[in-house]
Amino acid sequence: MVAGLGPGHPDHLTGAARSALEQARVVVGYKGYIKLLDPALLADKEIISTGMTGEVDRAGQAVDAALAGQDTVVVSSGDPGVYAMAGLVLELLEARGALQAVDLQVLPGVPALCAAAALLGAPLMHDFASISLSDLLTPWERIEQRIRAAAGADFVLALYNPRSKRRAGHLARALDLILEHRNEQTPVGVVARAMRPGQSVQVTTLAGVRPEEVDMQTVLIVGNSTTRIAAGRMLTPRGYHGKYDLTS
Ligand code: SAH
Repeated sequence: MVAGLGPGHPDHLTGAARSALEQARVVVGYKGYIKLLDPALLADKEIISTGMTGEVDRAGQAVDAALAGQDTVVVSSGDPGVYAMAGLVLELLEARGALQAVDLQVLPGVPALCAAAALLGAPLMHDFASISLSDLLTPWERIEQRIRAAAGADFVLALYNPRSKRRAGHLARALDLILEHRNEQTPVGVVARAMRPGQSVQVTTLAGVRPEEVDMQTVLIVGNSTTRIAAGRMLTPRGYHGKYDLTS
């Protein structure tokens, strides 16, 4: 099974994911995420945890455990199918010709972009595009192409994996590309550690984002041409205002 843990706080772990963890014999995950789990959920289980770039190794060990008949849960932060482990586990099972041998189930979780949107107000009320700025597995040229296309089409943008030591300039470059299509006053929400210890929520503008202060546990939401700030909240109107009288 592959389960999403949600953004971090146990209140946002789904009942299905909790039950899967309670029943599991083997729990596999990035060590930062294993730490977020209630230790009681992990008692008496085999825990396989590796560092940030150990995901192929981790998924391989999970597949081995599942093929050996052990009840195995691979955990991801947020949703397991959004820049996470579900796809990798499926690819590995396919590559090993083991798709039929394992009853793979994917349990959804609250993705960071939804957690961040909730903390910001309602920035995702209209069409949006999610773009990861990580070029570990995707060439940077393609990422730039997608930023240009999505910004040009007036999508609200969610920017994942905004910054790391190795690619310090990517967020600044992404914001410059967006500024070719949107004005400087476009609202931007910068949410770090949503629903985790150390949470921070900032509403600013495209001109106001300080890329050097953004870290990897952050997701940014850039408004579209109609997004506005309403008493500190970020609001992308769906269109009700033009169609209905909202005042009475
Ligand atoms: N599966 C996850 C995404 C994992 S990729 C999901 O569904 O959200 C890792 C990136 O997710 C981080 O670099 C960061 O951009 C974002 N992220 C994950 N958890 C977060 C949180 N609690 N607050 C803010 N951003 C988060």
